[in-house]
Amino acid sequence: MVDQINFNHSAGVPIDERVLQVMEPYFRQFYGNPSSVHSAGQQSAKAIENARVQVSRLIGAESKDRIIFTNGATEANNLALQGFAYRHRRKGNHIIISQMEHLSIINTAKFLSKQGFEYSQVKVDEYGVVDAQALQDAITDQTILISIQHGNNEVGTLQPIAEIAKIANDATIPLHVDAVASAGQVPIEVTDMGISMLSLSSNDIYGPKGVGALFVKRGISIQPILLGGGQEYGIRSGSENVAGIVGMGAAAEIAKQQLEKNATHLRRLRDSLIKGVLNKVDEAYLNGHPKNRLPNNANIRFAFVEGEAITLHLSFQGFLVATSSACTSKTLAPSHCLLSMGVSEAEAHGALQLTLGRENTLKQVDRFVEVLPPIIKKLRAMSPLSKEVPYDLYEDEEHDHEHGQEHD
Ligand code: PMP
Repeated sequence: MVDQINFNHSAGVPIDERVLQVMEPYFRQFYGNPSSVHSAGQQSAKAIENARVQVSRLIGAESKDRIIFTNGATEANNLALQGFAYRHRRKGNHIIISQMEHLSIINTAKFLSKQGFEYSQVKVDEYGVVDAQALQDAITDQTILISIQHGNNEVGTLQPIAEIAKIANDATIPLHVDAVASAGQVPIEVTDMGISMLSLSSNDIYGPKGVGALFVKRGISIQPILLGGGQEYGIRSGSENVAGIVGMGAAAEIAKQQLEKNATHLRRLRDSLIKGVLNKVDEAYLNGHPKNRLPNNANIRFAFVEGEAITLHLSFQGFLVATSSACTSKTLAPSHCLLSMGVSEAEAHGALQLTLGRENTLKQVDRFVEVLPPIIKKLRAMSPLSKEVPYDLYEDEEHDHEHGQEHD
């Protein structure tokens, strides 16, 4: 079997060895339930508090703010939108999101629209950047919350969160930010950036899967959506996933310490990947913002080919890549992000999402740039959409003309 090279980090990241080591004792040795008053319970409770501090440091949160651990960012996003909407429904029934949001935001907004709320989806430009004027225009006297992502997991575009926060804060509307794709890759300072709530996912920062967190600024109140024993300040009931939370905390600390080093490494690989592919393949175009993009993301669309076919051929060569968002690749529907950016349906089908990680090397990128062009060439030669009709097909055509035959 060929070695696997992961260029699909937005879907899955190998846990950091150091994180795994920190977690290990919490499966057996420190098994206490943090709600128990005995010493084993209190040991776990202390470990969770430590993780809260580690996560809050990654995003520049003050100690009085709250970090609520969840089972992932999908839950954190649901909690932010539903929890805020239910708590503040007397103030208004309108929330604003963007066209680029993850489905855990879009589908939650849709769900809320069946519960008496309304939502607007702010349009984006060709690079996927939220239109600030459109955001301003979408605000009504009923608007209670704005939710805009920081980095797009699919096309890599970073949103101008400070500018967006200014619009929200001027209108005294809290801003929720989905920072799953950007955390640990670009600096986040919730206080300086004017953010009221922020969602994180552990696996995206090299922690375990199935753990996430919602930052809630002091003074912002939300209603729980899971009811039970009142854990996590009464906002997220259920026995805590202690080992997972400890792992997320350790991952957050490492991510903070190594942020600059990792981002520099990833930018170098990303730029080399984009340049190499665009130089070697005709009719290949970068999706997302050319400069303001996640250090680890390259999203490229190839005319006349299907992303799925490229993915399969690359997989034979050991490269793990994705066509569109990890979460939507279960369907063959074109990416909602690309369509929002004005990419046609046919073109969107030819998009490849490449998300790099700390462990990737320049050598792997060079290999990718070598392996990809012949795959595209081969697929285009078979594609009915392609202009690159292979030589022997032209021959057939001439032959057919000779005999006066016509094809449909
Ligand atoms: N938001 C974004 C931007 C994502 O990329 C993802 C998926 N990693 C999520 C939310 C959902 O995260 P999780 O899989 O942890 O529920």
